[in-house]
Amino acid sequence: MHELFTKDNPSLRECQAFHESLDQEKSFDVDMLRNVAYLSEEIGEVVSAIRDFKKAEAPSALEAARSQLGEELADCLAYLLKLANYSNVDLQEAYVRKMKRNLGRTWHQPPD
Ligand SMILES: [Mg+2]
Repeated sequence: MHELFTKDNPSLRECQAFHESLDQEKSFDVDMLRNVAYLSEEIGEVVSAIRDFKKAEAPSALEAARSQLGEELADCLAYLLKLANYSNVDLQEAYVRKMKRNLGRTWHQPPD
């Protein structure tokens, strides 16, 4: 078992390192343009999962839809972490830096 799975709360940086080793172990495709295409496929799967989540009514169906949505969101995060690796971006640092900047921004609401 990879050491990432022995931690209760791995950091984003540790998750990024996990993907670096996984790419090597599994000889995954590391081409950035193909990987951003795979990310866009996963975003489509998130859209479908959200559709199912919004339709679910029974508690068991809602829980199943939530689980599926979580998996698709995780797939998207995996590709974001991989893309960060391929460009030597520290995604944890970039995320914190960008969210700090966003705190000072204002967004205009779209008209109803
Ligand atoms: Mg998926």
